[in-house]
Amino acid sequence: MNANLFSRLFDDLDDADRLAIETQDGRRVTYGDLIAFSGRLANVLAASGVRPGDRVAVQVEKSVPGLALYLAALRAGAVYLPLNPAYTLNELDYFITDAAPAVVVCDPLKAEGVKIIAAKVGAGVETLGAGGNGSLTEAAMAARPEFITVARAQDDLAAILYTSGTTGRSKGTMLTHDNLASNASSLVDCWRFTDKDVLIHALPIYHTHGLFVASNVTLLARASMIFLPKFDADIVIGLMARATVLMGVPTFYTRLLQNPALTHESTSHMRLFISGSAPLLAETHREWSARTGHAVLERYGMTETGMNTSNPYDGDRVPGAVGLPLPGVSVRVTDPETGTELPREAIGMIEVKGPNVFKGYWRMPEKTRAEFRGDGFFITGDLGKMDEQDYVHILGRSTDLVITGGLNVYPKEVESEIDALPGVVESAVMGVPHPDFGEGITAVVVCDKGADITEAEVLDALKDRLAKFKMPKRVIFVDELPRNAMGKVQKNILRVTYADIYSP
Ligand code: AMP
Repeated sequence: MNANLFSRLFDDLDDADRLAIETQDGRRVTYGDLIAFSGRLANVLAASGVRPGDRVAVQVEKSVPGLALYLAALRAGAVYLPLNPAYTLNELDYFITDAAPAVVVCDPLKAEGVKIIAAKVGAGVETLGAGGNGSLTEAAMAARPEFITVARAQDDLAAILYTSGTTGRSKGTMLTHDNLASNASSLVDCWRFTDKDVLIHALPIYHTHGLFVASNVTLLARASMIFLPKFDADIVIGLMARATVLMGVPTFYTRLLQNPALTHESTSHMRLFISGSAPLLAETHREWSARTGHAVLERYGMTETGMNTSNPYDGDRVPGAVGLPLPGVSVRVTDPETGTELPREAIGMIEVKGPNVFKGYWRMPEKTRAEFRGDGFFITGDLGKMDEQDYVHILGRSTDLVITGGLNVYPKEVESEIDALPGVVESAVMGVPHPDFGEGITAVVVCDKGADITEAEVLDALKDRLAKFKMPKRVIFVDELPRNAMGKVQKNILRVTYADIYSP
């Protein structure tokens, strides 16, 4: 059998006329159309010199041709390398020179700048605009739709995704055909996807969430997706009457909750709301249940591993927990210093092993070695615990861990206490340089509109709930927290903003 992910997705397609994608402007793309288009694009890639194992770097807006291009790269045996359209030419320079792709596909508006960079590594440049215009689609129209999918082994690379990297250089995560296929198949089962499902796809497709979780799962299940260029609460609520699943980052859920049109009735056709990529506040989970009658299903994963854990489809979807290890995935919690496995309920480093775990960082063998244990477990960098029922709880990133006066403080614990205070929407807790303590615990808090809370009140409310060393030294109020496109709070930005607050 060909272990190429494309073959595993489509070889047993029963009905090419099934609907695969619907666009916001009402265009309907069947599985047959998508496969034929990917065949044309694979012919164009091959004709432009892409050989099996070559990288195809792609920085384009979200579109159906963009998704077909991902499938085409798989078919051609190439390694798909999606890049956030927000990256500047300066940032692209690093990715392109590091990955040395055979071809770079970019927006026509960027072609001039990209050509200069691509020339450094001898890569060709093709264009694909948001509206489907560009040299790539022009060539595809003249190409044949038939293409024999290149044979790949399970362990061959299917994609490289660069991690956002808050410190140091971004690392290229090498994902194999089997990493992606095994994870998609596991999620189809866990989340009970069928060909009756209609997914509201409002995530970007340069990230593991929108590309692998949302798209691979939908296609493998023969379900369909409504492809939205970006998230819009009114549009998403409007679509719920004929959709069945939403996959989102927590920001989707908090924004939807702010919309009065979100009700039991407007969500009654939906069967599943999934959240991930960043922590969903327990409060949001509860509010969502009260407003809609649906318990959000939270799952946990990362670029390097795909999905690791998921709250159960049947059974308790526990607010604030990221669920149980997926079948075939082993999760353990260890002492970050020694690597010794810790008992249930103890907080430590989350480590995972399974067919979902990536092959290593592109051209960084030392970094790869440093992040794996001798027995093959990957050290995720996430701190958390496993409870007596095997549910995993995330308490922060190891880079977020605050060491104040020699004592470790897990920001999530302080954040949970602050978030529970009346009038508080959310908070971010981090360590910033402190002349006496090394790092000073600092809380940045967002309050409800009109709430009148002071720093002294927050500290007073916390003092009986947190050990003194965990108490924030300062509480700062802001209108909103800085977030990246996936909804992750950018604590690195906050650390820079407040770097000097304890300066003498
Ligand atoms: P990325 O590689 O961009 O997908 O980011 C992965 C990181 O996002 C993980 O290592 C976690 O720190 C975080 N993350 C993903 N899902 C969750 C979740 N459900 N709750 C808390 N953090 C999460």
